[in-house]
Amino acid sequence: DAQGMSLTCVAGLGVSGTAVARVLAARGEPVVVVEAEEGERQRVAAAELARRGVEIRFGPMELPEGVGRLVTTGWAPHHPLIAAALEAGVEVVGEVELAWRLRPAQAAPWLALTGTNGKTTVVRMLTSILLAAGRQAAAVGNVGVPVIEAVGEPYDVLAVELSSFQLHWSSTLAPHAAAILNVAPDHLDWHGSMEAYTAAKARIFERAGTVVYNADDPEAARLAGPRPGAVGFTLLVPRPGQLGVVEDLLVDRAFVDDPVEEAEELATLGDVHPFAPHNVANALAAAALARTVGVPAAAVRQGLRDFVPDPHRMSLVDRVGEVDYVDDSKATNPHAAAAALSAYPSIVWIAGGQLKGADVDELVRRAAPRLRGAVLLGVDRGRIAEALARHAANIPVVDISGQDTGVMNHVVSEAARLASPGDTVLLSPAGASLDMFANYPARGEAFARAVRELKAAT
Ligand code: ADP
Repeated sequence: DAQGMSLTCVAGLGVSGTAVARVLAARGEPVVVVEAEEGERQRVAAAELARRGVEIRFGPMELPEGVGRLVTTGWAPHHPLIAAALEAGVEVVGEVELAWRLRPAQAAPWLALTGTNGKTTVVRMLTSILLAAGRQAAAVGNVGVPVIEAVGEPYDVLAVELSSFQLHWSSTLAPHAAAILNVAPDHLDWHGSMEAYTAAKARIFERAGTVVYNADDPEAARLAGPRPGAVGFTLLVPRPGQLGVVEDLLVDRAFVDDPVEEAEELATLGDVHPFAPHNVANALAAAALARTVGVPAAAVRQGLRDFVPDPHRMSLVDRVGEVDYVDDSKATNPHAAAAALSAYPSIVWIAGGQLKGADVDELVRRAAPRLRGAVLLGVDRGRIAEALARHAANIPVVDISGQDTGVMNHVVSEAARLASPGDTVLLSPAGASLDMFANYPARGEAFARAVRELKAAT
């Protein structure tokens, strides 16, 4: 009976917004969805929801009369619709928060994680480990499956990827365990400041059963604070209570089953792929979360071996003339690009796009000894060029001013011209793609296409 229930407004017909409207309608609650864009995809979603009794309003982003609650996936507080709700004193909750509140009593525990980079990689590694342990597990949240669709399903455990946007709109989540992978500047335009961005990430720890943190990342370690029982992970030799690396082994000194032993071997470095220091950290984070639900060491190893990386994350596209072409289009901020730039010894770097207020000086300074050349594209390429002039004045830099997406062929041929045998041509842009491409996969695919054309022409 919808009478007496307050009206919920859902912000937009995105994947999560549509899922929220569907779930609330199934509960018999009155729902109105506000959507600015009336494209094909939106019309299809609207038609489906209308059949379920949901009202859809296309047009200006105005808060409908009588709304008692606004649900957003991760829109910025200064978005007109959100701002109007906040102004009117209407409660604003995120899709994840709503999923948490609506979860059934016997719901699966959440293993939640956030971080500037590595979230999707860790959530996939974690799911692979849980499946190897025979658990009914699903990867949900920012990875693409709305949490609200999964909470009612009969899973044993959920691996939940949370963005800073989702955490900003969450207030009562109490995951079984929660991890912060790293904290570096990103999305400062959305959050307004580094402090606000960090505060959003810190929310994941507030009510967590077990806190897992990157002990090598000062900011993540600071957010974990002196909590008793907090589990650190490190690329160094672990202290008691940590997971870490001893010679070529991933070792657990936090969740040791045998009381006589003080450490347990989980896997070897060779089980981590693609092999790079940041991926070892990712594997340790996934292992730590899995261990909080009693997963044995053998399943950690098997899960890491079974893990299949998502595309556009340091993916080798092809080798042309003894030069490797690597697509790391997902590196949409400087911290992510730093990980890839430290994984190859001799690099022709393709970079640029939208820096979102982040600084690239430190990134370029550290990468400079490995750079053989750079090809720059996108709106903020001038900022990268300035940093290169400061720290790598001796290398050739090609500035690509074109804005059309076909420009990638030009980019790749310039990179090929600068590369020598043994080099890696690395698309690891350090910026978002939206100034020139539909999204980061489109940028990565344009790159891969251009590499294939280059290969065909040689
Ligand atoms: P997210 O989901 O947080 O965006 P992804 O796993 O999709 O993270 O990886 C995003 C980018 O960051 C990729 O370019 C990847 O190579 C890089 N990356 C992955 N893990 C880490 C890490 N632990 N530290 C820094 N960069 C990372």
